[in-house]
Amino acid sequence: MENSGCGQECFDVIVVGAGIMGSSTAYQTAKRGHKTLLLEQFDFLHHRGSSHGESRTIRATYSVDYYCRMVLESYTLWEQAESEIGYKVYFKAPQFDMGPADGDSLRALISSCRNNSLPHHVLDSRQVAQKFSGRIRIPEDWVGVLTEHGGVIKPTKAVSMFQTLALQNGAVLRDNVEVKDIKRSSDGGGGVVVFTSNGERFRGKKCVVTVGAWMKKLLKTVSGRELPIQPLETTACYWRIKEGHESDYAIGGGDFPTFASYGNPLIYGTPSLEFPGLIKIAVHGGYTCDPDKRPWGPGLSLAELKEWIEGRFSGLVDPTGPVATQLCMYSLTPDEDFVIDFLGGEFEKDVVIGGGFSGHGFKMAPVVGRILADLVLTEEAKGVDLKYFRASRFEENPKGNNKDLGVQVGNLSDH
Ligand SMILES: Cc1cc2nc3c(=O)[nH]c(=O)nc-3n(C[C@H](O)[C@H](O)[C@H](O)COP(=O)(O)OP(=O)(O)OC[C@H]3O[C@@H](n4cnc5c(N)ncnc54)[C@H](O)[C@@H]3O)c2cc1C
Repeated sequence: MENSGCGQECFDVIVVGAGIMGSSTAYQTAKRGHKTLLLEQFDFLHHRGSSHGESRTIRATYSVDYYCRMVLESYTLWEQAESEIGYKVYFKAPQFDMGPADGDSLRALISSCRNNSLPHHVLDSRQVAQKFSGRIRIPEDWVGVLTEHGGVIKPTKAVSMFQTLALQNGAVLRDNVEVKDIKRSSDGGGGVVVFTSNGERFRGKKCVVTVGAWMKKLLKTVSGRELPIQPLETTACYWRIKEGHESDYAIGGGDFPTFASYGNPLIYGTPSLEFPGLIKIAVHGGYTCDPDKRPWGPGLSLAELKEWIEGRFSGLVDPTGPVATQLCMYSLTPDEDFVIDFLGGEFEKDVVIGGGFSGHGFKMAPVVGRILADLVLTEEAKGVDLKYFRASRFEENPKGNNKDLGVQVGNLSDH
């Protein structure tokens, strides 16, 4: 991009929101030689959004076909970024998905493995007990799907990694700067002006908005456009592994997988890693919230989760109650697919938006950053079918993309 039309304070790209998506985008644009500014409303690495904490699952198994390739590209990009920074954020494990054999989601997941040529094994209950030496058991009318493509990513460390790499590539990073509005530049030079609540203004030729749970609010102010991106508050729960069995459920040495259980509710978890002797097992769902007036609770009903743990882990994980919890936010779209698009309207292709990651975006942050950078710098992104992520899909159908899989993320406010 030529450095024309702007004065001294002008950036090639201004990225608003420094969670994992904004940080990986800023890394991409800076690395490609573009003068980049990354703005964050709170402290960097704060705990009030969606990208903090100790673990996120990465898996290539999905009930729709279009995420598998994005995840596979992300594995490569995670490793590339790790080699640039010199430390690890991704820890390898297999992935194990389980659920009723006649369930739509699991059947669609198996067919997506086939369509994407993803090596996988479908196991019955006896084979599952054998494979995991009794550490995981499923009912007789369930099946399990085992692949090599699982693992855990350390979220706060990963955000820090992309911010550091962006900085090393010349980006300017500013925290405690809340963006209040974005307007078209009025001096005829093109680009945008970003207004902040402390009275500062930044000029950019282009802008990427990755503000997580604040997306709906900020876009309403900026463009009047109202996208159906609903913030939910959710709770990650850690449970104690029975004494003497800690290493059986640990990542690394053994073969214990990251896992998901496709039922109602959808339950997911990661092997023991961040807190020795504890395993993360949580419900994929939460309560509707206002990101600026968080309830910081009320916490989820744990009855179904306790019952699930008792049934699946052969009494080797204590189901009495979680010993630690962490609160976080999802940004849920009606179809649980991402929104990756140009803002359009008067901004045309100069403002790109990335949001609505619906509780499953972290694993794909490197590829999302690559795509957002492609879009903002070249107006197109290769290797991805963006039709699933267009914001306009909700104008055509308020439910978004057609899926017959039912709800995966539970909005527990509806119960
Ligand atoms: C408990 C939990 C478990 C999850 N597990 C998984 C998992 O296992 N696997 C997986 O792939 N994904 C998982 N996810 C989802 C994943 O973490 C999110 O999709 C991802 O973190 C979203 O990142 P983001 O950058 O869009 O949002 P955020 O991290 O919230 O970043 C947005 C940033 O924008 C800033 N901002 C907002 N408004 C403004 C403004 N006006 N001006 C300046 N800055 C602003 C915010 O402060 C925030 O820092 C999980 C999420 C949660 C909460």
